[in-house]
Amino acid sequence: SLNAADVANWIRRAAELVAADTERLTRLDAAIGDGDHGHNLDRGFRAAVAALPDDAPPGRTLIAAGRAVVSKTGGASGPLYGTALRRAGKALGDAADVDAAAFGTALRAALEGVQDLGKAVEGDKTMVDALAPAAAAYEAALGDGADLAGCARAAADAAARGAEATIPMQARKGRASYLGPRSVGHMDPGACSTGLVLRALAEIVG
Ligand code: ADP
Ligand code: MG
Ligand code: MG
Repeated sequence: SLNAADVANWIRRAAELVAADTERLTRLDAAIGDGDHGHNLDRGFRAAVAALPDDAPPGRTLIAAGRAVVSKTGGASGPLYGTALRRAGKALGDAADVDAAAFGTALRAALEGVQDLGKAVEGDKTMVDALAPAAAAYEAALGDGADLAGCARAAADAAARGAEATIPMQARKGRASYLGPRSVGHMDPGACSTGLVLRALAEIVG
């Protein structure tokens, strides 16, 4: 299971992976957007790390991280990532320990939050194309009897594949949609970063 320290370590590891890939994310966004995704998210996750509470249950830790992301991340991705983290945190409530099933519920809530706010569906070439298959793969692994580490690994692998699968898509949401057919042939930066955040989870629980 996952306790508050694990969740804090997840956010710290996600911030490290985003920091390490800031230039890559920014290059992806330069191809089909305005070239700020890496720096937006790096700023947001640094703020999330700084905002991690000392002694709060996992759900409250995620809510605090989400608030910091919303306030410090510029662009479309700030409210979307912030909503994902806050919705996941709310789904966890005040439990001190989160088991694999509870975390799956939180991951599903995060996806629903992103879709409520951004109205994107799978195939629109957004972070939903990484997060939706991740939630589905997590649930499938859970159904097969996998533990939290196995579920998280399945989610991370599905998110990475989902991000790759955005390359041939034409964007229908967000700034990249302004490019129309010229958005084809590039990975969506938000789907790429979502893959990093889920990779961080798999590393922490694995
Ligand atoms: P901005 O486009 O405002 O500069 P970012 O560059 O930080 O913001 O983030 C862009 C990413 O946000 C996209 O790659 C995409 O994954 C995600 N995104 C944009 N609009 C939406 C939406 N409506 N729903 C889901 N994700 C979206
Ligand atoms: Mg951008
Ligand atoms: Mg921008």
